[in-house]
Amino acid sequence: MLRIFPANDERQTLRLQRYFMAVACYVLWMSLGLGMYMTGMLSVPSQMIVPVTVGVFITNLYFYIFIRSGLNCHFKDPSLTFSQIIVAMTWILVLMFAAADSRSLMLPVYVMSLLFGVFQLKRKDFLILAAFGLVGYLAVVGLDLVLYEERFDLRTEVLRTSVLAGTMLWSAIFGSHVSGLRNKLRYRNFELREALEVVHHAARHDHLTQAYNRRYVMQTIKAEKARADRTRRPFSVIILDLDHFKIINDRYGHLAGDRVLMAFAERAKGTLRGMDFVGSEGVRTFGRYGGEEFIVLLPETDLGGSYRCAERIRYGTEDEPFDDVFKVTVSSGVAEYRLGESIEDTLRRADAALYRAKDNGRNCVVADDTPTSGIYSLLTGNELSPNVVVGQFGS
Ligand code: GH3
Ligand code: MG
Ligand code: MG
Repeated sequence: MLRIFPANDERQTLRLQRYFMAVACYVLWMSLGLGMYMTGMLSVPSQMIVPVTVGVFITNLYFYIFIRSGLNCHFKDPSLTFSQIIVAMTWILVLMFAAADSRSLMLPVYVMSLLFGVFQLKRKDFLILAAFGLVGYLAVVGLDLVLYEERFDLRTEVLRTSVLAGTMLWSAIFGSHVSGLRNKLRYRNFELREALEVVHHAARHDHLTQAYNRRYVMQTIKAEKARADRTRRPFSVIILDLDHFKIINDRYGHLAGDRVLMAFAERAKGTLRGMDFVGSEGVRTFGRYGGEEFIVLLPETDLGGSYRCAERIRYGTEDEPFDDVFKVTVSSGVAEYRLGESIEDTLRRADAALYRAKDNGRNCVVADDTPTSGIYSLLTGNELSPNVVVGQFGS
């Protein structure tokens, strides 16, 4: 189906909206002119009416097709403001030549066409257009003098030309000033949007590792709990803590420790991205819980699935030293959300499992197997799955 405005293209739509503003202006003045002509108030040679009306229609249709087809996008000024104003001025010049008696009436419309430039044009363009307008007008007057000397009135023309020159110049300066303000405003908006993005990013991310920060992860867990309560589908959390991290700081310095934290976060995120979870539709969120502790939220994942995930991260960590130097291992505690419990309870269970992993000698994953309070069985009708896994690998 042919649409007047393109779908999903705000810029082109805006250009076409401005184009239609110009068309509305044409329609207004042309109807007024035709009305005046028909009532005998405007003296235009009758043979001019049809060619000018058709000409105006064709040039406008041409601009519409040009913009709607997207050809305009290849131009420096895709809104074609400059050319549209030149064409409008040219048509008014033709009419001013044809209807010498009513020339003064057309001067305001002539100047008005220049003001369409406030949407786009720079000062230089405005001055060129004002010069074009003035030279064009002088050409019409000159033609008049040559062809119809008898109807030429020097006093009137000097007066009109002076008024035109003044208003054209003033409009050009005024227009370019407004256009400059618009540009400044656009630039400020752009800067503001960029600053907002930075603030938005900073509010969600940890500045060192660029993983999500604790506040954001907690928000996500809260939303996930609400979803799980509604759908009764599971989710799990993993709390990870780098083993003997203090030694890295003490031995190689705090900056080296920072680099390891960054590299660990990057590698763990990569591992999470690379894992397929059957039936998992939500987004896995990896964040820094604090210091050298990290947290993962796994939507739609039960204890077994999250255990395997923690295992992959554990293995990926010990597998290769960071920066080719720092051999690091990680311990993790895993807990699956139990319907009805608070988020704090789930995290407490994951944390307790992490402590057990540390007690078990580190570099291992412990999934929480503590018996649940009666609420889980009451709400779900199930006993807690005995599928509890404790793994310890490496030295
Ligand atoms: P464990 O295996 O029991 O977890 O031992 P650990 O040494 O990792 O734990 P501990 O809590 O004793 O030490 C954590 C260290 O992490 C101490 C602290 O200086 C360091 N740390 C916390 N945040 C940062 C950070 O942003 N950068 C660096 N370089 N070190 C950090
Ligand atoms: Mg710690
Ligand atoms: Mg630690």
